[in-house]
Amino acid sequence: MILDKFSLNGKVALVTGSNTGLGQGICRAYAEAGAMVIGVSRRPSTETKEMLGESFHNVLADLSSLEVIPEIIKEALDKFGRIDILVNNAGIIKRQDSLEFSEENWDSVLNVNLKTVFFLTQAVARQFVKQGTGGKVINIASMLSFQGGIRVPSYTASKSAVKGITMTLANEWAKYNINVNGIAPGYMATNNTEQLRQDGERSSDILSRIPAGRWGTPEDLEGAAVFLASSASDYVNGFTVAVDGGWLAR
Ligand code: NAP
Repeated sequence: MILDKFSLNGKVALVTGSNTGLGQGICRAYAEAGAMVIGVSRRPSTETKEMLGESFHNVLADLSSLEVIPEIIKEALDKFGRIDILVNNAGIIKRQDSLEFSEENWDSVLNVNLKTVFFLTQAVARQFVKQGTGGKVINIASMLSFQGGIRVPSYTASKSAVKGITMTLANEWAKYNINVNGIAPGYMATNNTEQLRQDGERSSDILSRIPAGRWGTPEDLEGAAVFLASSASDYVNGFTVAVDGGWLAR
């Protein structure tokens, strides 16, 4: 049955940024699809735990440095014994004119959005290879993996690079039955876009350009997230899918 291919029964998913926004929505979708979920977050994922109960375990870690990676892997394996799916969702954005843009705003964004993404993915992929049963990596990219944006140079650099390494890693690891793909959300109503949504002019500019006529929600991402984590996507490698209400089609 085709719908069985979308099931995540018996799978273990590791999702970063599980306390809020898109990451919380992905945790919920994976649990509903049958997976056990390890959510990594800097602040406790209390609400996510309340929603998902025994199928969810929270690992607290600050992803701005690489030191936390071995402990994340260890805690995931201690709790559920394996890892089958990794979603690199945690991310930050800093807005400042490029003429003034600070080194701090450059480094903080590149560290969380790119450096940790690469090295956490490397650590999880080593575990996939050890398990010998393949794996799924889903990187949360952005419209700014395709476009330039305004006043967000470090974010655009990080998300363009995320799309790039999604292809590199897909090329290298397909032979281990590891699929690496991305999801590029459009403009979604989360903390990430709060500043934008409060700026009346920018907000109405953005809204008027979205063919679907509304901001996206975490629920809008769930179908693509489950598809790319499931065996329904076994022959999809290195592609970044836009879930954007038509933004890129304009
Ligand atoms: P969000 O609500 O701000 O969530 C970001 C998540 O990342 C939070 O869980 C946050 O934890 C976590 N995080 C940030 N820095 C971290 C760190 N150093 N260590 C551990 N966790 C950290 O925004 P969102 O919209 O759901 O964003 C999720 C992903 O989607 C991000 O990669 C973002 O760039 C991407 N995205 C969002 C949009 C959009 O329109 N919303 C569009 C395109 C792409 P805290 O709550 O503790 O900070």
